[in-house]
Amino acid sequence: MKIVGIACFAVRLPLVTPFIISYGTYSHVESVLVRLTTDTGLVGWGEATPDPYVTGESWAGTEAMLRHDLLPLLRDQNPLAREAIHARLDGLVTGAPSAKAAIDLALWDIAGKQAGLSIAALLGGPVHDTLVWHATLSIGAPAAMAAEARAAVMAGHTEIKMKVGAARLMDDVERIMAVRAAVGPDVALMVDANQGWRDPATAIRAIQAIAPAAPVWIEQAIRADDFAGLAEVRRATGIAQMADEGVHSARDGLRIAELRAADLVNVKLMKTGGITEAMRLIAVCEAAGLRCMVGSMVESTIATAAGVQIALARRAVVANGLVGPVMLRDDLATGLTYADGAIRTDPDAPGLGIAVDEERVTRFAATTRERAEE
Ligand SMILES: [Mg+2]
Repeated sequence: MKIVGIACFAVRLPLVTPFIISYGTYSHVESVLVRLTTDTGLVGWGEATPDPYVTGESWAGTEAMLRHDLLPLLRDQNPLAREAIHARLDGLVTGAPSAKAAIDLALWDIAGKQAGLSIAALLGGPVHDTLVWHATLSIGAPAAMAAEARAAVMAGHTEIKMKVGAARLMDDVERIMAVRAAVGPDVALMVDANQGWRDPATAIRAIQAIAPAAPVWIEQAIRADDFAGLAEVRRATGIAQMADEGVHSARDGLRIAELRAADLVNVKLMKTGGITEAMRLIAVCEAAGLRCMVGSMVESTIATAAGVQIALARRAVVANGLVGPVMLRDDLATGLTYADGAIRTDPDAPGLGIAVDEERVTRFAATTRERAEE
C-alpha cells in the first residue's frame, strides 16, 4: 500500500462564543487539514491546530510547511510505516508538532481503516466505557463564571475546569471562590492558570488563598519552562499540580518525573506531534506514577476524535478536555456525541471513527490573506 493522493486545506471555524484565557481571546479555530489517499482507496484525515503561544507555530506557517516541505515527503510512502515516516519528517524539520500531528493522525486513521479497527483497538482496546468531559469556563466576571458553572452542573456535568490567570491575583481568588460557592462541594473543580501566575511566589500565594475551594488540581500555575519552580509550588501547597504548556514530549515528561514537579500531565496531540509521541509520553507518565489528561487546542471533531481514541485506551488518562466540538458553531465531521457530561464514539467505527463532510471542508476553507484583511 502506498500514499498516492495528498491534499491540504486551511480552514477557519467560528466558535459559539469567544474563548478567553490568560493569553488571549479566540473567536475561531484555525486549522490545517490533511487528507491522504492510498492506492487501495483508503482515506486518512488529520488536523493541525497550531497554538503560536504554546507550539511556536502559526496557522499560515503550518499550512506553508505542510504544503511545501512535509507533505511532499509522503508521496509513494507506505502509510503503515509510521516510524520511518516520522524519521524522515524529523530529519527535515525540528519541532513543528502541530504540522506533524496532522500527518500522524492521517496515518493512524489509515492504519485503523486498513485493519477494520478503531485506533483505540489498535492501541490495546478501550479501557474506559465512556469519557467524562469537563465543562471549561472562559475567564470572566466572578458572578458570570459562577452562573455558567451552575448551568453546566444543571446540564449534567460533574467536573468543571475554570480558566484564570488574569492581571490581578485577587480577581482570580474571587472567581474561584464564587464558582465553588455556586456548584457546591460535590463537583470536581479544576483550575487552569495557563502560566498566568508566572512565578512560584505568586502561585503559592494564590493557591493558599483558594485552598478552601478544594481544587482537584491546578494546571500550569507558572511559566511553562520553570520545572523547578513548579516543584516548589507543589511542595509548598500540597495541592496537586498539572503541567501543560511545559510538556511537549516524552523527554519533557521524564524531566517532570525526575524533578517531581507535577502530579499530572496534560497530553495534547498538537504538542506531541500526534498519537505516536503522545503514547510515548503517556508511557513515561505511567512508569513514573503520574496521571494524564488528554487535552486539546480546541480542535474540530477530526483531531478531537484522535484525542478520544487515546483517552479511551489508556488507564493513566483520568480526565480530558476534548471540548472543541461543543465550542464550535460549525464542525467538519460527525462521529462524536456529547451528552450528560460524557463523550461517546462508535467503538466499531474504524480509524478515527468519524465521517468527514467534504462539502463543509470546502465551505470553511480560508486563506491567510483573507484573515489579514479582516
Ligand atoms: Mg491547560
